[in-house]
Amino acid sequence: MRQGTICIEGGYTPKNGESRMIPIIQSTTFKYDTSEDMGKLFDLEASGYFYSRLQNPTTDLVAAKICALEGGSAAMLTSSGQAANFFAAFNICSCGDHIIASTAIYGGTFNLYNVTLRKMGIEVTFIDPDCTDEELEAAFRPNTKMVFGETIANPSLVIFDIERFAKAAHAHGVPLVIDNTFATPINCRPIEWGCDIVTHSTTKYMDGHDATVGGAIIDAGRFDWMAHKEKFPGLCEPDESYHGLVYAEKFGKEGAFITKATVQLMRDLGCTPAPMNAYLLNLGLESLAVRMERHCSNAQKVAEYLQSDENVAWVQYPGLPGDKYYDRAQKYMPKGTCGVISFGVKGGRAAAEKFMMNLKLGIIATHVADAHTVVLHPASSTHRQLSDEELIACGVKPDMIRLSVGIEDVQDIIDDLKQALKA
Ligand SMILES: *Cc1c(COP(=O)(O)O)cnc(C)c1O
Repeated sequence: MRQGTICIEGGYTPKNGESRMIPIIQSTTFKYDTSEDMGKLFDLEASGYFYSRLQNPTTDLVAAKICALEGGSAAMLTSSGQAANFFAAFNICSCGDHIIASTAIYGGTFNLYNVTLRKMGIEVTFIDPDCTDEELEAAFRPNTKMVFGETIANPSLVIFDIERFAKAAHAHGVPLVIDNTFATPINCRPIEWGCDIVTHSTTKYMDGHDATVGGAIIDAGRFDWMAHKEKFPGLCEPDESYHGLVYAEKFGKEGAFITKATVQLMRDLGCTPAPMNAYLLNLGLESLAVRMERHCSNAQKVAEYLQSDENVAWVQYPGLPGDKYYDRAQKYMPKGTCGVISFGVKGGRAAAEKFMMNLKLGIIATHVADAHTVVLHPASSTHRQLSDEELIACGVKPDMIRLSVGIEDVQDIIDDLKQALKA
């Protein structure tokens, strides 16, 4: 099946007389005839459900659809994108380990890796995704266990050179983990470019309707943990909390990563998505391919219009010829990138604030990447405590507007921007 078909048909094929939509199994627990039956599940000798903190049938069906979309071997849902990026790292690393992460990543993930993981004894080196080969090479240490980046960075719109970082990670015997939230598997499948683990905030385009917070982790099933046994004791040595089970031995390359993340991290940390939320996410996934096409065509037209407006100082969108990342976007995402654009209003911070006040259609919110057109002026909202000089130092220009183009009629979006820029 192709992507547009997997969105509709993937993950769940009802049998004779079963519900067409995935059923919502809103149950914490599952009944068995004998203690022996249930014991086998606890020992991972049989597969089945016993408690929804670990696994739930509704959630698993939606994970299976996302797994098919990304071309992975196994997948799981988490309660948020933050949980997905935490689990992906913590399933590989523990105290004393080291991660190399791109500087161009979502602020929430930056905090998670820079502050919270450090408190747990995991060191992180942040590197410019456009660094030289020497700089990249120098970032690796003997205790480095993974490399992390975002396909399209939120919000800087930097396009990550997946193939290059996959090669570097593999040369050092470690996996590449990629957050594919902004591109979605409709526009890019990082696994095809050598990525080993894909993560998502499904809260964005996948849900697409401002309805549910959620996350996902997908394993390509290719990384050979046992070939680098000494680096990954969590996957390759006996888990005492599971009677000495060795995940990489018992579940192989295809199943070890997601099984461990489920039976160990989900069991102990419990970032479990609700079945109802998984059901709502599935509704979003059904139209993902159609919506992404529209997000990209709308954003392309809006970016081109903004370039032509005399009140606009600059426009950044990887779909514009001349953009710093245009060529790389063409390579990894020939069908389009995403709906998010950055631009500057002539006249700086004050003019940008006035522009925001005059919008009628675009709503002001911190959210991005869903059906509604959303606009944010960081200098007067999320970053308002900073001076112009401080803003520039952290890469946010005072006149910068972050525009997440929705799937409304594009002419209405352009008309709204036009009148607000004029005002
Ligand atoms: C929003 C976002 C996250 C965090 O996801 P939540 O679902 O809000 O927890 C992670 N990565 C990226 C790229 C995001 O845009």
